[in-house]
Amino acid sequence: MTEPTDTQQYSFKAETKQLLNILIHSLYKEREVFLRELLSNASDALNRLRFETVTNRDVLDLNAELKIHITLDKDSRMLTIQDTGIGMTKDEVIENLGTIAQSGARKFIEATKDKNTDLTSVIGQFGVGFYSVFMVAEWVRVTSRSFRKDDEAVMWYATGEDNYQIGHTDMSERGTKIEIKLKEDAAEFAEEYRLKNIIHKHSDYIGFPIYIGEAKEAVNKQTSLWRTSKQEVTEEQYTEFYRQTTLDFEDPLLHIHMATDAPVQLYALLYVASKAERGVFSLRKDDGLKLYTRNILIDEYNKDLLPEYLRFVQGVVDSEDLPLNVSRETVQSSGLMPKLKKVLTNQVMRELENLAKNNAEKYQAFWQEFGLYLKQGIASNPVDADTINPLLRFKTNLNPETWSSLEEYVSRMKEGQKEIYYIVGEDSKSVLRSPHLDYFHSLGTEVLLLTDPMDSFMLMGLHKYKDFDLKNVAQAEVDTTQKPKDQPEAEKIADIDFNSLVEHFKQVLGERVADVRASTRLYQSVARLADADANANPELQRVYKYLGKEYEIPKKVLELNPSHTMLKDLLNLEAGSELQNIIIEQIYDSSLLVEGLHPDPSSMASRVQQIMEAALKQKSG
Ligand code: ADP
Ligand code: MG
Repeated sequence: MTEPTDTQQYSFKAETKQLLNILIHSLYKEREVFLRELLSNASDALNRLRFETVTNRDVLDLNAELKIHITLDKDSRMLTIQDTGIGMTKDEVIENLGTIAQSGARKFIEATKDKNTDLTSVIGQFGVGFYSVFMVAEWVRVTSRSFRKDDEAVMWYATGEDNYQIGHTDMSERGTKIEIKLKEDAAEFAEEYRLKNIIHKHSDYIGFPIYIGEAKEAVNKQTSLWRTSKQEVTEEQYTEFYRQTTLDFEDPLLHIHMATDAPVQLYALLYVASKAERGVFSLRKDDGLKLYTRNILIDEYNKDLLPEYLRFVQGVVDSEDLPLNVSRETVQSSGLMPKLKKVLTNQVMRELENLAKNNAEKYQAFWQEFGLYLKQGIASNPVDADTINPLLRFKTNLNPETWSSLEEYVSRMKEGQKEIYYIVGEDSKSVLRSPHLDYFHSLGTEVLLLTDPMDSFMLMGLHKYKDFDLKNVAQAEVDTTQKPKDQPEAEKIADIDFNSLVEHFKQVLGERVADVRASTRLYQSVARLADADANANPELQRVYKYLGKEYEIPKKVLELNPSHTMLKDLLNLEAGSELQNIIIEQIYDSSLLVEGLHPDPSSMASRVQQIMEAALKQKSG
C-alpha cells in the first residue's frame, strides 16, 4: 500500500460530532463492545458478498476465503481488522462512514439521556456501531476495495474530532481493512488473550472464521445461535441475542428455539417481546421474520412464515431446504414456504399453550399485550379457531377482575346450562349494568364480558367451544320458570293499566321502535332494547359501526318491566302530560345509551334538566 493521494477533507455533521463527543468522553464502561461492532460489520460485509456471488460470478477475488483477520502490535498499540467482504467504493465510504447515521446518531443521543439504558449493549442497533471505535482509538484508518472490479481502493481517516479525510490508495485485494491506533489507556485491546475473550463473549456466533495473527485456527465457534443445540445455549445468551437484534431494553417474554428435519429442515429462534408496542428506539421497521438459507440472509421481514395473527413473533428462520439461488422475490413462490409456515405456526401455538398451562401469570401478561392479535386471528382465520380458542381469556360478570379461559368457564357452568353466554358492550363497568344481564345476575349465571372492539370481530368466527354454542345474552332465550330464590317477586302492574301504558309508549316513540311489550326477564331494570328479529346479528351491527360503515341499526323492540316501581309511578302521572312524555323519552334514550347505540348522548342534557326540575318541584311543593 502506498500513501493515499488527492486526499480531501470533509466535516462530520453536527449530530455525528455530538455522538463522537459522547462516545469519546462519557462511555467508559464496556468499551470492549467496539470490537463486537467492527466484527459484526465485517460479518455483514461478508454475508453481502456471499449473497452477491449467488447470482454474480464477476467479482474481484472470487475465490478468496471469506474470513476476518485480526493483527496486533502491542508496542505500537496497533490493532487491525481486515475482512474479505463486499468492500466499499469512495462514494459508499462517504455515505456509510461520513454522512449517514444522522437519524441513528440523533436517536442514540436521545437514548443517552435515559440513565437506565445500557448503551454499550445496544449501540450497534442505532446504525452507529462503527463510531464506537472512537471509544478506544486515537485515530482510525479504513482502507477498502469494492467487489466491483473496476472500482479503485479508497482510504478514510479520522481522529474522532470534527473532520475526516478521504483519498484514493492502493489495495489489490477485495474487502475492508480497519487500522486502529489505540489510545494509551486502551492498550489492553492489543493483547491477544483479551481479544479472544471478547470474541468468545460477544462474537462467537459470527458465521465466518476470525483468525488472529499467524494462527491457522479460527478463534470463534462460527455457528449461529439458532444453529447451536438448545442444550448448549444459556438463558443469558438467548437474552443477549434478543437485545442485539431488536433493541428492546426489556427481556423477552418468551423464546422458542427449534430444529426439525421433517417434513422440512429448519432452525428457528423466535421471540415474543414483553410489550406489543415497539420501543421508541426499535429498529424493527416492520413485522416479519428474518429468513436465512444456509446462513445467508435472504429476507429481513418475511411475512409468509407465520399467519398474520402471529405477526408479533419475531426472530430468525434458517432452512437448508430453500434452494440457494432463490432471490428474495422467488422465495415467496417456492412451494416450501407453506410447509415452513405450518411447522412454525404449530410450534408457536404449542408453546403458547404450554405457557398458559405452566405459567398462568406470565400467560396473563402475554394475553394483556397480545390477546388482540389472537382475537383478530379468529375473525380472519375461522379455520384456526379450534387451535386459538384454548388461548383466549375473558373477564366475566362473576369474575370481573381475573382472566378466565373458556375451559374454566365451562367447568364452572351450572348443571343444565347448555350455552356459553356473553354480553357485548363498550366497557366492563357499563356492561355490568346492562338490563340484559338482569336475569343472569339474579340466577348467578356466569357471562363473558366482551368489551373490546376486537371482540365483535372475533365473534364472527367464534360460534362454538367444544359442544357449547356461544350465545349473546341479549338474544338468549331464558327459562322464566326459573326464578331467583332470594328475590321476592314484586307485584305486577294490572294488565289493563300496563296495556294503556304500552300504548302510550308507542304513541310517544312512534316509528323509532319496532314494538313495545312486557318483558319476562327484567328484575332491576326498567326496560331493555331487544332485537325484533330473532336472527339479528348484534355483533355485525357493531362491526359495521366500528368500520364506520353506513349502516342503519334495525329498529328494536322496547321491553318494559311490568313490576318496576318507576312504571307504577309513571302511571300515576296525568296521562299524556308533558312530564310523562319526557320520562318515556328518557327511558328510551337511556336504553339506547346502555346499549352503546345512542347517536348523540349530549342531546339528552336539556331533557334531563327538565326532569330534575320537575323532581325538585315535587319535593318542595
Ligand atoms: P450499521 O452496521 O448498523 O449499518 P455501522 O455504523 O456499524 O452501522 O456501519 C455503517 C455502515 O458502514 C455499514 O452499514 C456498512 O455499509 C459500512 N461498513 C462498515 N464496516 C464495513 C465493512 N467492514 N465492510 C463494508 N462496509 C462496512
Ligand atoms: Mg454495524
